[in-house]
Amino acid sequence: MASPALETAAIVLDCRDHGESDKIVTFFCPEAGRITGIAKGANRSKRRFVNKLELFSSLHITYTQPNQDSLAFISAADLMSGYVNLRKNVDLYNAATVIREFILMGVREKECDSRVFYLLDWALKSLNSNRPQLPVVVIFLLRFFDYIGYRPDLSSCHHCNHPVLTRQAYRFNYMTGGLLCENCSVHDFQTTIPLSPGTIRLLADAQNLPQERLHRLQFSNIALEESLALLHRYGRRLFQRDIHSWKTIVNQRAEG
Ligand SMILES: [Zn+2]
Repeated sequence: MASPALETAAIVLDCRDHGESDKIVTFFCPEAGRITGIAKGANRSKRRFVNKLELFSSLHITYTQPNQDSLAFISAADLMSGYVNLRKNVDLYNAATVIREFILMGVREKECDSRVFYLLDWALKSLNSNRPQLPVVVIFLLRFFDYIGYRPDLSSCHHCNHPVLTRQAYRFNYMTGGLLCENCSVHDFQTTIPLSPGTIRLLADAQNLPQERLHRLQFSNIALEESLALLHRYGRRLFQRDIHSWKTIVNQRAEG
């Protein structure tokens, strides 16, 4: 029996030529999660796939999945948004590339969490409407780590358990994903980075605000630098590897 045709929203995460006329495409979808499929004749067909299977494009696809472990067959794709602004600006594109690298590391094939899809969708739309790219990366990563089960805990000191006080500076321990107050941080100085009170408040808001209100958050330069340092170290620790695209967004900055 032929497998039924399925339809879904999809964002292109990867696309490469396969033979002379086909393409292998990795999509991220709200319910199906990450799927890899083959678009037969994509390099020949003028109408079906042209200009659609580009990195970050938002599509509506029709596909069949003969069995769980096989490649999907992509039979049609409608372009919802090609994110033209994002492609024209290298800073916005680099920010999207960092976000993509984290999704490819943190989400396995067929693993689905629609929150991650809508967070990615939010981030790409934000970049495409020329929002400052670094706050978008910070907010995306903070919530992404939360959704995949590694929410940074910004509510209390991990050592003495005292709740966070609003006017105090803390250090973030990127080995444990928690804060240490000034007294307790003497025990763990090697694996911690400083966070000023304003940064902790901003990051807590970025974790808790509904998605449609995230653009209200205003990041100072210090808050951005501290946040990026935290997320970079924490991300490297979680995935046990370098984040290759990171240097493209911080090459003008001290953090590295
Ligand atoms: Zn403490």
